[in-house]
Amino acid sequence: MSPSCDEKNRDKKILVVDDNRTNVQTIKRILEERKFKVFEAENGQEAISRVRDLSPDLVLLDLVMPKLNGIEVTRILKNQERFKMIPIVLLTAADSVESKVKCLDSGADEFLSKPVNPLELVARVQSMLRIKSLNDDLLSANEKLKEVNQKLKELSITDPLTGLHNRLYLQMRIGHEFERADRYRSYLSCAMADIDHFKKVNDTYGHAAGDAVLQHIARVFMESIRKIDLAARFGGEEFVFILPETDEDEAILVSERIRASVEASPVVFEGRTILATVSIGIVTFPHHDIENEDQLIDCADKALYRAKNSGRNRVEKYD
Ligand code: GH3
Ligand code: MG
Ligand code: MG
Repeated sequence: MSPSCDEKNRDKKILVVDDNRTNVQTIKRILEERKFKVFEAENGQEAISRVRDLSPDLVLLDLVMPKLNGIEVTRILKNQERFKMIPIVLLTAADSVESKVKCLDSGADEFLSKPVNPLELVARVQSMLRIKSLNDDLLSANEKLKEVNQKLKELSITDPLTGLHNRLYLQMRIGHEFERADRYRSYLSCAMADIDHFKKVNDTYGHAAGDAVLQHIARVFMESIRKIDLAARFGGEEFVFILPETDEDEAILVSERIRASVEASPVVFEGRTILATVSIGIVTFPHHDIENEDQLIDCADKALYRAKNSGRNRVEKYD
């Protein structure tokens, strides 16, 4: 065997379990010659607790032991999510087919006849470790994939500039909220907010300042709503709030609070103070004009239009 192969063995932990100390020492010596890290246990109970502590790469397990025998230990380990990927090789003196079938049926990955042949022992150990290593790679690739997927999912529903949810997410949530309000006959309010004369902010202070205003206003929005509410960036400088279990009076109160908070907190950008205000239109379901979530948003938009026409920096409800 090449030295580089022995090098690789150095970080492989093998647990040898046998109630016969001579057997353990024999196997240990053969494996240590190949530079494996070998650990011992002399009964089933100890084997289980060592597996817990060590998380070995392989377990060589005697079949016949007092109290917990090899098959019982195998069943216990293979039934636990944390340990089931650790290969188990059962050491069996009995050479009968029946005994070998029993070993594999218990969940063991391989068996070896005792007394062990050193060459066969090392070959089996290497082959089990190769499979374990491929499995570990697969598991960690899978974990990474899950993480990346989660990240992608978050990105796909988040507005990159403000960190608020985007329109896609709003559309996914609003249908669900509407259905719930309809079924349980609960109130559902929707508010649409739009920054006043925002074009002028961009024209006067520059686009970067406009971006800073959007970010600032999004923060004010987040601080003004409850956990069960949703604030989403609907378009350029338009935002939609979904307020479950909120009647019209409460929706006006919340929107008024949001409007006042924006007005009361100007943005300082590169030393210049920028005053921004928002107009907000609200509507509350149930309403005789509303049969679905699209109409809910439509009516909030109409109310917003009224707020704009009535002088801006104000809240109007849909009539
Ligand atoms: P009103 O009070 O009627 O809403 O007037 P307004 O100027 O806010 O409305 P208008 O629709 O005329 O202009 C919206 C502006 O918002 C124009 C557009 O450049 C700006 N805008 C949209 N998205 C962004 C963005 O992501 N960043 C910046 N800086 N500006 C944006
Ligand atoms: Mg605007
Ligand atoms: Mg607009």
